[in-house]
Amino acid sequence: MELIDGKKIAADIRTEIAATVVELGKSGARRPHLAAILVGDDPASSIYVGGKEKACKEVGFDGSVYRYPASTTEAELLTAVGFLNNDPDIDGFIVQLPLPAHINAQNVIRAINPAKDVDGFHPVNIGKMTLNLPSYLPATPFGILELLKRSNVETEGKNCVVLGRSNIVGMPISILLARNSKLGNCTVTICHSRTKDIGLVTREADILIAAVGKPHFVTEEMVKPGAVVIDVGIHRIPDPKSKTGNRIVGDVDFENVANKCSMITPVPGGVGPMTITALLLNTLSAFRKDFD
Ligand code: NAP
Repeated sequence: MELIDGKKIAADIRTEIAATVVELGKSGARRPHLAAILVGDDPASSIYVGGKEKACKEVGFDGSVYRYPASTTEAELLTAVGFLNNDPDIDGFIVQLPLPAHINAQNVIRAINPAKDVDGFHPVNIGKMTLNLPSYLPATPFGILELLKRSNVETEGKNCVVLGRSNIVGMPISILLARNSKLGNCTVTICHSRTKDIGLVTREADILIAAVGKPHFVTEEMVKPGAVVIDVGIHRIPDPKSKTGNRIVGDVDFENVANKCSMITPVPGGVGPMTITALLLNTLSAFRKDFD
């Protein structure tokens, strides 16, 4: 079994981005600028946004965070989005999800200028992605494609099973892997909470992508020998043996599944580091106006 080392692949890509920024600087260009809007004080969201700020510094981008209280109204947030849409110094921005319950996230996503939508969640960008047109790709699926590419995983003609159909992971990665493109051409099956006998489906998978949001959901019996397994899940579970009393695991029962597959992503250190890295790649594209 070969481990797909997301930490190393992410570090390699960030080094490449940093070198590009240095080259751009030599030709007199300003630094690419990524902004984030954070509403409320959800601890996980604060950590994610902090990670994005840190990653910007690492590659030489400017990074800004606009913080708003949880009481912010949808109208106020839409005004803030309009402000960033029109700020020529900001190449791309994200609105960190989830938003407080009184704000309709889809209304906010639709208000983002698609040319600055580096999360790739705007319907225009989802539409372009679906039509196989150049566009920003949602960060986690984009990161998964990079992992597969840089690990030399052949996708053409392979059976791929995706567990989960969320707008941010399951749905876009299913579309991407089914597209008629170098990193696609898979035969994709999507499973969700109403799928009957999931094991029957997953045992046919040459490439299995787990994004169900349930710790250790994928067990050894569900995996075809020699499969490539990509684990998107992130969960903190109690672990009395650990100093902190808990540990991070994925949607896959790594210890038992690892022996059975040809390649697998660990958690942590697999898909996670790739997500912010993909956002940086999208920001570089926004700066260069690659998709205008
Ligand atoms: P989500 O929005 O909760 O979606 C979960 C999907 O799994 C849904 O489509 C759901 O089906 C399906 N599902 C739930 N229970 C199931 C079951 N028993 N059998 C089959 N399908 C089932 O989750 P998400 O946002 O896609 O995230 C998935 C996991 O990835 C989470 O652990 C999340 O923390 C992690 N994540 C990690 C990264 C990263 O950077 N590594 C990024 C994003 C998310 P229905 O549609 O029928 O409800």
